Amino acid sequence: MSPIAGLIQTLIIMALIFFLAYKYIDLQTKNTHFECPHCGSSFKLSKSGLAIAFKKNLYERMVTCPVCDYKGWMEIIKDE
Ligand SMILES: [Zn+2]
Repeated sequence: MSPIAGLIQTLIIMALIFFLAYKYIDLQTKNTHFECPHCGSSFKLSKSGLAIAFKKNLYERMVTCPVCDYKGWMEIIKDE
């Protein structure tokens, strides 16, 4: 395989990974919300907000409440 073809293949794989990651985040922001343990309000996070939020595990993110500015680990809750 020529070096150019190898490079193109790598780029295609990278683009695919980015696309899948984007779709995953898109789905997650559409169907989930957070509930603030401080003031009890529920809110949705923007795509970029969720993407850069610190991850503790699959179900918890370090997010800031838009209502009371409380910052902490909050569980990702599926919309009803
Ligand atoms: Zn709050």
